Amino acid sequence: MNSKKCPLYGKCGGCQLLHLPYEKTIEFKKNYVLDCFKKEGINAKINKFISAKEPYNYRNKMIIGFKIQNSKVVSGFYEENSHKIIDLDYCIMHSELQNNIAKYIKQLIIDYKIKPYDEDRKTGIIRYVLIREAIYTKQILITFVTSSEVLPSRSEIVKKICAKFKEVKTIIQNINPRKTSIVLGEKEKVLFGKPYIEDKLMGLTFKITSKSFYQVNPKQTELLYQEVVNSLDIKKDDLIIDAYSGIGTIGMILSKNASDVISVENNTQAYKAAIMNARDNNIKNIHFINADATEFINEMALENERVDWLVLDPPRTGSTISFLKNAIKLKPKKIIYVSCGPDTLARDLKILLEKYHITYISLVDMFCFTKHIESVVCLSIN
Ligand code: SAH
Repeated sequence: MNSKKCPLYGKCGGCQLLHLPYEKTIEFKKNYVLDCFKKEGINAKINKFISAKEPYNYRNKMIIGFKIQNSKVVSGFYEENSHKIIDLDYCIMHSELQNNIAKYIKQLIIDYKIKPYDEDRKTGIIRYVLIREAIYTKQILITFVTSSEVLPSRSEIVKKICAKFKEVKTIIQNINPRKTSIVLGEKEKVLFGKPYIEDKLMGLTFKITSKSFYQVNPKQTELLYQEVVNSLDIKKDDLIIDAYSGIGTIGMILSKNASDVISVENNTQAYKAAIMNARDNNIKNIHFINADATEFINEMALENERVDWLVLDPPRTGSTISFLKNAIKLKPKKIIYVSCGPDTLARDLKILLEKYHITYISLVDMFCFTKHIESVVCLSIN
């Protein structure tokens, strides 16, 4: 049984489907998407399922929380729907390197007597550690999330980590005094290296910061983006909108064949990284807008702008009614909806289906052994 591979299975809740053979998880995911569609009265078929060749050790980002439990420092993932941390020994969904770094950092936190943050008493220092790995370049970014500016023995800790793991190129301290469970705060200090690491996707270089969104499974991400490329028949003077664009990945990949791309993203750090990414890759026909996607689309619709293709890739909560209604008004030839939340996808599609019809659906297994699945839905104008 797969679940035997993981000492945390049944406690951590991260990989809900680990008890199934991989093929069965594919069936589960297809049925889940179709069920979500049925609930909204949408009759559709899945044209393609892109499974993962390597369904383990795929995640490029690890977030570990710190706590004192039973008078011991524990570090790991939160138990599902609880405030308890499962002490992490080894996670089979992350790389060996990320696991080793996590273990080493935990030991340093103990050795240097850095107190984990206590949510109830609002005391202590260390809240989380984030480890991001650029799989292609093998660069690592580490973020220490602390409750205030204080991080004792900061320079020794940084020195030790860099001496042990040459892959570590950036270390950030993020200050999060908030009383909520949101992981990252506003303020950051660079403790080592540049404020970003770099990775490659589909031949392009991308800068990744501590805060910006970056797909967690890079191998499957390339296949996902290829699906988006394949679904559009872009002509030289076409205008493309890439909404919810993150660090500009999809827009930059599509810009090769288009006249102009407009990418819209509300996270300022991701927006700034996107501008640098375009410059680094010498892409000149892409424009980045740091705004709320709905407000932007509404303005485009008011101005009656010409849009040939619209790609949207919103977070799990989906898009907004206003965005979708105004997207329809713009009359793009095709709308490509990339989604990691089948239920919100189905809800949103219902609105688009007033004027569009589904021509192709592919599912990409980005989050193997979890219940989550990425969908690419291609819609053509009626
Ligand atoms: N297309 C990108 C990012 C997808 S994730 C990629 O493939 O990497 C969704 C992105 O939407 C995140 O970067 C998030 O910051 C952004 N976002 C969330 N709400 C938004 C809003 N209201 N307006 C614009 N962008 C938003």
